[in-house]
Amino acid sequence: METASHDKALTDELRAFLKRQGADLVGFGAAALLEAGPEVFRPTRYLPGARALVSMALHINEAACELIARCADGHTAPPSYASYQWFTLSVINRKLDELAYAGAKFLEDRGWLSYPVPANMPHDIRPTPEYPGGPGDLSHKHAAVACGLGEFGWHNLVLTPEFGSRQKLVTIVTEAPLRPDALSGEKLCDPAACDWACARACPTAAIPRNAGQKVSLRIGEKTVEYARISGWRCRWGCSGMLRCTGGAKDIPMPKEEPTAAELMQYKEQCDPWQERLKRYTGLIPYCGRCMCVCPAPAGRKSKLTECVELH
Ligand code: SF4
Ligand code: SF4
Repeated sequence: METASHDKALTDELRAFLKRQGADLVGFGAAALLEAGPEVFRPTRYLPGARALVSMALHINEAACELIARCADGHTAPPSYASYQWFTLSVINRKLDELAYAGAKFLEDRGWLSYPVPANMPHDIRPTPEYPGGPGDLSHKHAAVACGLGEFGWHNLVLTPEFGSRQKLVTIVTEAPLRPDALSGEKLCDPAACDWACARACPTAAIPRNAGQKVSLRIGEKTVEYARISGWRCRWGCSGMLRCTGGAKDIPMPKEEPTAAELMQYKEQCDPWQERLKRYTGLIPYCGRCMCVCPAPAGRKSKLTECVELH
C-alpha cells in the first residue's frame, strides 16, 4: 500500500543501484508484514524503527540444477554435486552478502539505519526441532514474499515467475521509507499438475504428499501455505548423510526423530573425508532435489520431463 510517506525516488534509485550491483531480482515490502510471525523473525527485533524490507535474489545455475534433477528417479546420486555445492552456497551466498552490505550502506549514507541480514548464517548455531539448521535473524523466504518477489511452493521454497525455485535470497531491514511492491498474485505451485514432484523426489520423505499437512499463515492480505516438512529428515539430506544426497556414505535413518544430541552422534558417523572437504570449502549444501525437480515456472516443465522420471 502506498502512502505519502513513501519515497518513490529513493526506492527507484536503490532498485537501480542494486541491479547495477548484480542483483537479479529486487523487491520492497513493509516490515510490518512480518511482525505477526514468530518473535525470532520479527524485523523490529533487530532494528526497532524498521519500516521496510529489501529482498534480493540471485539465480542459481540452471545446468547444475538439471544435473541433480536428472537423478531424481530412483533417488540415485548425480555424477557430481561439486558445482551445485560450490556455486550455490559459497559463491552465491557471498555475493548476496555483498549486495546486502552495499544496499545497507547506500541507505545509511543517506541517513537511514539499515540492517543487512546475512544470507546463510544462523544466529543460534544449535539446532532445535523447529529450526533444525538453527534460526537466522529472519526468514529470507517470508521477506521475499512480503516484498512481492513470488510465492511459497509446497516444498517451502519461494517460487518466482523468473526462476521458479532456483534462486537464493538475502534481505535488508531498514528505517528508510521505501515504497512497497505489490504482493505476488501468481499461482506458480500446482501439486496436482506435477503430481507432488518435490515430495516424490525427496529421498528422506521430509515433504508430505498430503495437502492437509501444511503451514498456513497471513502475510498482509495474502494467505500463505506450504508443506509442514519434517525438519530433521530434511537435515539428513541437506547434511549429506545419504549417498544420493551428495554424502560419501549412507547413514541409516532412525524411525523416530532423534534429539539434537543424538543427531550430532549420527553426524559423527559421516565419512571423515566428507568432513575434511568442509574444512577446505566451508559450509556446503547437499541434496536440493526438491528445488531442482520443481517444474515451476511452467515454461521449465517441457525441459525437465525429458529427463526426470519420478517413481
Ligand atoms: S514440485 Fe510441484 S508441488 Fe512441489 S513446489 Fe514445485 S510445483 Fe509445487
Ligand atoms: S533438500 Fe532434500 S532432504 Fe530436504 S526436503 Fe528437499 S529433497 Fe528432501
